[in-house]
Amino acid sequence: MAEKTEKTEKKPEIKLSTDAKITWCPGCPNFAILVAFRKMMEEMISAGELKQENLVACAGIGCHGKISDYINVNTFTSLHGRVIPAMTGIKCANPKLTVVGFSGDGDSYSEGLEHLIHAARRNSDIKLFIHENQVFALTTGQANAVSPLGFKGKSTPFGSIEEPFSPLLTMLSVGATFVARTYAPDIHNTGKIMRAAMAHKGFAFVDIIQPCLTFFDTREFFKDRLYWIDEKLPTDNLGRAMDLVRNEDGRTPLGIFYKADRPTFEESLMKEI
Ligand code: SF4
Repeated sequence: MAEKTEKTEKKPEIKLSTDAKITWCPGCPNFAILVAFRKMMEEMISAGELKQENLVACAGIGCHGKISDYINVNTFTSLHGRVIPAMTGIKCANPKLTVVGFSGDGDSYSEGLEHLIHAARRNSDIKLFIHENQVFALTTGQANAVSPLGFKGKSTPFGSIEEPFSPLLTMLSVGATFVARTYAPDIHNTGKIMRAAMAHKGFAFVDIIQPCLTFFDTREFFKDRLYWIDEKLPTDNLGRAMDLVRNEDGRTPLGIFYKADRPTFEESLMKEI
């Protein structure tokens, strides 16, 4: 009688890091975003929810954009402010792919804002993570569309005279179906929010507050100001979500503010063709 041999199934190794040298400033919260994303990916791949080869990670121009060199998946680096058209093009060409994008506030709130608005209103099935540090950091410290009033930098030596733009309020107003905000140094919760964004069908928008330690260190400012909203509260109330993100009490809420279910752009497009 043939002796039974016990087969031990060896799980394939998941390698998500690359050999590229990381060139962010020491301690930059971009490292935390990278760790949160890789950890989230590893969990999803292990759980069979995602295939490494089916993921495309796009990035724009800015300090954030280096992230595409540090993740071992298919990547695409776009022109400044043009990460979203690259993502929507990839998703339309092959809807089976999971398309995520990293962008900065200079990249998508200043240069490429129109793409952000149209992707949200169309409900393109892409997941966008914005590294928000309220400054053009790669070009060494100029004001951008979300720099606070009075911000002193190389382009505003006497202080910015512009009111900052509210990306979350805009996303809610134009029909984004997943709107969330997190804080980069909080790796655990950033990973949780990223995973929820990945599971969402449609346009998922996540603003990640990522202080720039070199040109605009806001860690002290945010220390007692940030708070997590109750995650048991319903997320289908648009009016409540808008009230929350107006930050009228001077504090900055974090969490998933709004989720909605409606057909994606790619679903409608495929039906038509
Ligand atoms: Fe990070 Fe700012 Fe350095 Fe860029 S300049 S790597 S955002 S600390």
